[in-house]
Amino acid sequence: MIGNLIIVSSPSGGGKGTLIREILQTTPDIMFSVSYTTRAMRGGEQDGREYFFVDVPKFKELIAAGEFLEYAEVHGNLYGTSLSQVKKLTESGKDVLLEVDVQGAKNMLEKVPDAVSIFILPPSFATLETRLRMRATESSGDLQVRLRNSFQEVREFNKFRFVVVNDDLETAVEEMRTIIRAERHRTNRQDAAICGILDGFDAAMHRFEKEFD
Ligand code: ADP
Ligand code: 5GP
Repeated sequence: MIGNLIIVSSPSGGGKGTLIREILQTTPDIMFSVSYTTRAMRGGEQDGREYFFVDVPKFKELIAAGEFLEYAEVHGNLYGTSLSQVKKLTESGKDVLLEVDVQGAKNMLEKVPDAVSIFILPPSFATLETRLRMRATESSGDLQVRLRNSFQEVREFNKFRFVVVNDDLETAVEEMRTIIRAERHRTNRQDAAICGILDGFDAAMHRFEKEFD
Protein backbone atom coordinates (compact mmCIF):
# COMPACT_ATOMS: atom_id res chain seq x y z
CA MET A 1 0.00 0.00 0.00
CA ILE A 2 1.51 3.32 -1.10
CA GLY A 3 0.77 6.44 0.99
CA ASN A 4 -0.78 9.60 -0.43
CA LEU A 5 1.33 12.56 -1.43
CA ILE A 6 -0.27 15.66 0.09
CA ILE A 7 0.91 18.98 -1.31
CA VAL A 8 0.29 22.03 0.89
CA SER A 9 0.84 25.55 -0.47
CA SER A 10 0.01 29.09 0.55
CA PRO A 11 1.55 32.53 0.43
CA SER A 12 4.29 33.01 3.01
CA GLY A 13 2.57 33.52 6.38
CA GLY A 14 -0.60 31.72 5.21
CA GLY A 15 -0.16 29.23 8.04
CA LYS A 16 0.96 26.06 6.27
CA GLY A 17 3.85 25.45 8.68
CA THR A 18 1.54 25.83 11.68
CA LEU A 19 -1.18 23.61 10.19
CA ILE A 20 1.32 20.93 9.16
CA ARG A 21 2.80 20.86 12.69
CA GLU A 22 -0.68 20.41 14.19
CA ILE A 23 -1.59 17.67 11.71
CA LEU A 24 1.65 15.76 12.35
CA GLN A 25 1.04 15.84 16.09
CA THR A 26 -2.57 14.70 15.94
CA THR A 27 -2.97 12.45 12.89
CA PRO A 28 -1.62 8.88 12.68
CA ASP A 29 0.31 7.46 9.71
CA ILE A 30 1.49 10.74 8.29
CA MET A 31 5.01 12.09 7.84
CA PHE A 32 6.62 15.31 6.66
CA SER A 33 9.06 15.35 3.77
CA VAL A 34 11.96 17.63 4.73
CA SER A 35 13.05 19.78 1.75
CA TYR A 36 16.46 21.20 0.93
CA THR A 37 16.94 24.97 0.94
CA THR A 38 19.69 27.52 0.45
CA ARG A 39 17.99 30.09 2.70
CA ALA A 40 19.55 30.98 6.05
CA MET A 41 18.35 29.06 9.09
CA ARG A 42 15.93 31.02 11.31
CA GLY A 43 16.21 31.11 15.08
CA GLY A 44 14.50 28.02 16.48
CA GLU A 45 14.97 25.98 13.31
CA GLN A 46 17.05 22.81 13.23
CA ASP A 47 18.97 21.32 10.30
CA GLY A 48 17.14 18.18 9.15
CA ARG A 49 13.88 19.11 10.91
CA GLU A 50 12.39 22.12 9.04
CA TYR A 51 14.84 21.83 6.13
CA PHE A 52 18.21 20.44 5.15
CA PHE A 53 20.15 23.71 4.94
CA VAL A 54 22.75 23.67 2.15
CA ASP A 55 24.74 26.24 0.19
CA VAL A 56 24.16 26.99 -3.51
CA PRO A 57 27.02 24.77 -4.85
CA LYS A 58 25.72 21.79 -2.83
CA PHE A 59 22.17 22.46 -4.07
CA LYS A 60 23.46 22.45 -7.66
CA GLU A 61 25.24 19.16 -7.01
CA LEU A 62 21.95 17.69 -5.80
CA ILE A 63 20.17 18.93 -8.94
CA ALA A 64 22.84 17.26 -11.11
CA ALA A 65 22.52 14.03 -9.12
CA GLY A 66 18.76 13.95 -9.83
CA GLU A 67 17.89 14.22 -6.13
CA PHE A 68 14.89 16.53 -6.63
CA LEU A 69 11.33 15.59 -7.49
CA GLU A 70 10.95 19.33 -8.11
CA TYR A 71 12.84 22.47 -7.15
CA ALA A 72 12.23 26.19 -7.52
CA GLU A 73 13.59 29.59 -6.66
CA VAL A 74 11.21 31.13 -4.14
CA HIS A 75 11.60 34.64 -2.66
CA GLY A 76 15.23 34.64 -3.84
CA ASN A 77 16.28 31.25 -2.38
CA LEU A 78 16.35 27.72 -3.77
CA TYR A 79 14.07 25.02 -2.39
CA GLY A 80 13.77 21.39 -3.51
CA THR A 81 11.80 18.26 -2.65
CA SER A 82 13.88 15.14 -2.08
CA LEU A 83 12.83 12.35 -4.43
CA SER A 84 14.53 9.60 -2.39
CA GLN A 85 12.83 10.73 0.81
CA VAL A 86 9.36 10.95 -0.75
CA LYS A 87 9.80 7.49 -2.28
CA LYS A 88 10.97 5.94 0.97
CA LEU A 89 8.13 7.45 3.01
CA THR A 90 5.27 6.73 0.58
CA GLU A 91 6.52 3.17 0.04
CA SER A 92 6.36 2.64 3.82
CA GLY A 93 2.59 3.18 3.42
CA LYS A 94 2.51 6.52 5.25
CA ASP A 95 0.90 9.64 3.84
CA VAL A 96 3.52 12.30 3.10
CA LEU A 97 2.99 16.02 3.59
CA LEU A 98 4.94 18.33 1.29
CA GLU A 99 5.15 22.06 1.90
CA VAL A 100 5.95 23.72 -1.41
CA ASP A 101 5.34 27.04 -3.12
CA VAL A 102 2.75 27.35 -5.90
CA GLN A 103 5.29 26.74 -8.73
CA GLY A 104 6.54 23.62 -6.93
CA ALA A 105 2.94 22.43 -6.54
CA LYS A 106 2.31 22.92 -10.25
CA ASN A 107 5.47 21.00 -11.22
CA MET A 108 4.70 18.25 -8.76
CA LEU A 109 1.11 17.86 -10.01
CA GLU A 110 2.41 17.44 -13.56
CA LYS A 111 4.63 14.58 -12.37
CA VAL A 112 2.22 13.08 -9.83
CA PRO A 113 -1.32 14.02 -11.00
CA ASP A 114 -2.86 11.81 -8.34
CA ALA A 115 -1.30 13.83 -5.48
CA VAL A 116 -3.71 15.53 -3.09
CA SER A 117 -3.30 19.30 -3.28
CA ILE A 118 -4.45 21.75 -0.61
CA PHE A 119 -4.19 25.52 -0.86
CA ILE A 120 -4.21 27.42 2.43
CA LEU A 121 -5.83 30.81 1.99
CA PRO A 122 -5.52 33.48 4.70
CA PRO A 123 -8.87 35.14 5.47
CA SER A 124 -7.62 38.51 4.17
CA PHE A 125 -4.50 40.37 3.08
CA ALA A 126 -4.59 42.41 6.31
CA THR A 127 -4.54 39.22 8.41
CA LEU A 128 -1.68 37.79 6.33
CA GLU A 129 0.35 40.96 6.81
CA THR A 130 -0.33 41.08 10.57
CA ARG A 131 0.62 37.41 11.00
CA LEU A 132 3.83 37.77 9.00
CA ARG A 133 4.82 40.90 10.94
CA MET A 134 4.01 39.21 14.26
CA ARG A 135 6.07 36.16 13.25
CA ALA A 136 8.98 38.58 12.91
CA THR A 137 11.28 36.12 11.13
CA GLU A 138 12.10 38.22 8.05
CA SER A 139 14.00 41.44 7.51
CA SER A 140 11.75 44.26 6.32
CA GLY A 141 13.05 43.78 2.75
CA ASP A 142 12.25 40.04 2.79
CA LEU A 143 8.85 40.78 4.30
CA GLN A 144 8.04 43.17 1.44
CA VAL A 145 9.05 40.52 -1.13
CA ARG A 146 6.84 37.89 0.52
CA LEU A 147 3.84 40.24 0.76
CA ARG A 148 4.25 41.41 -2.84
CA ASN A 149 4.50 37.79 -4.08
CA SER A 150 1.25 36.94 -2.23
CA PHE A 151 -0.81 38.97 -4.74
CA GLN A 152 0.06 36.51 -7.53
CA GLU A 153 0.16 33.42 -5.34
CA VAL A 154 -3.47 33.68 -4.10
CA ARG A 155 -4.65 33.72 -7.73
CA GLU A 156 -3.31 30.16 -8.12
CA PHE A 157 -5.91 28.71 -5.74
CA ASN A 158 -7.84 27.03 -8.56
CA LYS A 159 -4.89 24.75 -9.46
CA PHE A 160 -5.51 22.89 -6.19
CA ARG A 161 -8.07 20.18 -5.42
CA PHE A 162 -8.93 21.73 -2.01
CA VAL A 163 -8.87 25.18 -0.41
CA VAL A 164 -8.80 25.65 3.37
CA VAL A 165 -9.34 29.18 4.70
CA ASN A 166 -7.05 29.57 7.69
CA ASP A 167 -9.08 31.92 9.90
CA ASP A 168 -9.71 30.03 13.14
CA LEU A 169 -6.75 27.65 13.58
CA GLU A 170 -8.67 24.76 15.14
CA THR A 171 -11.28 24.83 12.37
CA ALA A 172 -8.61 24.90 9.66
CA VAL A 173 -6.76 21.93 11.23
CA GLU A 174 -10.01 19.96 11.43
CA GLU A 175 -10.77 20.74 7.78
CA MET A 176 -7.32 19.59 6.71
CA ARG A 177 -7.63 16.40 8.74
CA THR A 178 -11.03 15.70 7.13
CA ILE A 179 -9.50 16.04 3.66
CA ILE A 180 -6.62 13.70 4.55
CA ARG A 181 -9.01 11.10 5.99
CA ALA A 182 -11.41 11.31 3.04
CA GLU A 183 -8.55 10.87 0.57
CA ARG A 184 -7.57 7.62 2.31
CA HIS A 185 -11.04 6.32 1.46
CA ARG A 186 -10.88 6.95 -2.27
CA THR A 187 -11.88 3.74 -4.08
CA ASN A 188 -8.55 3.30 -5.86
CA ARG A 189 -6.61 3.69 -2.59
CA GLN A 190 -8.31 0.68 -1.07
CA ASP A 191 -7.73 -1.89 -3.81
CA ALA A 192 -5.99 -4.47 -1.61
CA ALA A 193 -8.56 -4.34 1.21
CA ILE A 194 -11.49 -4.38 -1.23
CA CYS A 195 -10.02 -7.33 -3.16
CA GLY A 196 -9.72 -9.31 0.09
CA ILE A 197 -13.37 -8.65 0.97
CA LEU A 198 -14.61 -9.46 -2.54
CA ASP A 199 -12.61 -12.74 -2.55
CA GLY A 200 -14.52 -13.63 0.62
CA PHE A 201 -17.80 -12.85 -1.17
CA ASP A 202 -16.78 -15.08 -4.10
CA ALA A 203 -16.01 -17.98 -1.76
CA ALA A 204 -19.33 -17.46 0.04
CA MET A 205 -21.19 -17.37 -3.28
CA HIS A 206 -19.75 -20.76 -4.29
CA ARG A 207 -20.73 -22.28 -0.93
CA PHE A 208 -24.17 -20.67 -1.19
CA GLU A 209 -24.79 -22.02 -4.72
CA LYS A 210 -23.70 -25.55 -3.74
CA GLU A 211 -25.95 -25.53 -0.69
CA PHE A 212 -29.11 -24.33 -2.46
CA ASP A 213 -28.78 -25.89 -5.96
P1 ADP B 1 3.77 29.76 6.60
O1 ADP B 1 4.40 28.47 7.03
O2 ADP B 1 2.67 29.57 5.61
O3 ADP B 1 4.76 30.80 6.14
P2 ADP B 1 3.21 30.09 9.44
O4 ADP B 1 2.64 28.76 9.81
O5 ADP B 1 4.60 30.40 9.88
O6 ADP B 1 3.03 30.40 7.88
O7 ADP B 1 2.19 31.17 10.04
C1 ADP B 1 2.51 32.56 10.02
C2 ADP B 1 2.23 33.14 11.40
O8 ADP B 1 0.82 33.16 11.62
C3 ADP B 1 2.84 32.34 12.54
O9 ADP B 1 3.36 33.23 13.50
C4 ADP B 1 1.66 31.54 13.10
O10 ADP B 1 1.79 31.32 14.48
C5 ADP B 1 0.47 32.47 12.81
N1 ADP B 1 -0.77 31.75 12.50
C6 ADP B 1 -0.94 30.75 11.62
N2 ADP B 1 -2.24 30.37 11.57
C7 ADP B 1 -2.91 31.16 12.42
C8 ADP B 1 -4.30 31.26 12.82
N3 ADP B 1 -5.25 30.49 12.30
N4 ADP B 1 -4.62 32.20 13.73
C9 ADP B 1 -3.67 33.02 14.24
N5 ADP B 1 -2.36 32.99 13.94
C10 ADP B 1 -1.97 32.06 13.03
P1 5GP C 1 10.10 29.59 4.03
O1 5GP C 1 11.38 30.24 3.65
O2 5GP C 1 9.10 30.57 4.59
O3 5GP C 1 10.28 28.37 4.91
O4 5GP C 1 9.44 29.04 2.69
C1 5GP C 1 9.29 29.87 1.60
C2 5GP C 1 8.49 29.18 0.52
O5 5GP C 1 9.22 28.07 -0.01
C3 5GP C 1 7.16 28.61 1.00
O6 5GP C 1 6.17 28.94 0.02
C4 5GP C 1 7.40 27.14 1.03
O7 5GP C 1 6.22 26.39 0.83
C5 5GP C 1 8.33 26.97 -0.15
N1 5GP C 1 9.04 25.69 -0.10
C6 5GP C 1 9.52 24.99 0.95
N2 5GP C 1 10.07 23.84 0.56
C7 5GP C 1 9.92 23.78 -0.79
C8 5GP C 1 10.29 22.80 -1.79
O8 5GP C 1 10.85 21.76 -1.53
N3 5GP C 1 9.99 23.12 -3.07
C9 5GP C 1 9.37 24.27 -3.43
N4 5GP C 1 9.08 24.47 -4.72
N5 5GP C 1 9.00 25.20 -2.53
C10 5GP C 1 9.28 24.95 -1.23
